[in-house]
Amino acid sequence: MRGKEIIQKATAEGRNLLSETESKELIKEAGINVTDTKLALSKKEAVAISDQMGYPVVLKIASHEITHKSDSGGVKLGISSAGDVGTAYDEILASVTQKCPTAVIQGMTVQKAARPGVEVIIGMFKDAQFGPVLMFGLGGVWVEILKDVSFRIVPLRKKDAASMIREIKGFPLLEGRRGREAVDLSILEEALLKLSAFVEKYPEIKELDLNPIFAYANGYLAVDARIILEKRP
Ligand code: ADP
Ligand code: MG
Repeated sequence: MRGKEIIQKATAEGRNLLSETESKELIKEAGINVTDTKLALSKKEAVAISDQMGYPVVLKIASHEITHKSDSGGVKLGISSAGDVGTAYDEILASVTQKCPTAVIQGMTVQKAARPGVEVIIGMFKDAQFGPVLMFGLGGVWVEILKDVSFRIVPLRKKDAASMIREIKGFPLLEGRRGREAVDLSILEEALLKLSAFVEKYPEIKELDLNPIFAYANGYLAVDARIILEKRP
């Protein structure tokens, strides 16, 4: 589905929050690398999709009312067989229904387990004065604990993308130290520039989060995406 159609569908359904699959589809349109993610409406479907994708896979809760999936036990990583998909499905369902009893659950998303990398975050929010602002930092759990992030106003120039990556305190982690490989910085800069253009193309988007993105020596992969739309006037 094209980006504008995804936004129209959510808006017609009265939703501001796009699902993980919708967010990733939209982000893919920006030319950003994301994990191929499919929605399963039942356990049987989750197994069939997993068999087709190939193991190991990751299962995540799909609910329009749940934004932070792992907070409610809604994420299972490294699932390596059809049997384990079934178990993970049941466990996620049990945990989420207990922690969020009123949430309507659509099903689960299935995606391939990504090879580990340095977890970074790219985000966008709108500042009342400056409009869209892009954020870059260390992702995953680190973002809440260290708050090690940098900001630039959209549209980004090439030198903005380069400097915002280099000014975070954790930059040495990306440069590769103590036997660790350096990550591909130029491709991260490219991703920031692509997102800057994307954000300009879609003023309907209020907030965007790619957290985490796994950064590698060769390339990167976003494994989670969240998009919030502007409220309709
Ligand atoms: P949340 O809604 O809680 O942010 P995420 O989709 O970000 O859920 O998943 C939580 C964590 O699980 C991520 O920070 C990442 O470390 C890991 N993870 C998520 N998807 C994948 C994947 N496809 N492959 C490997 N690890 C993943
Ligand atoms: Mg996340």
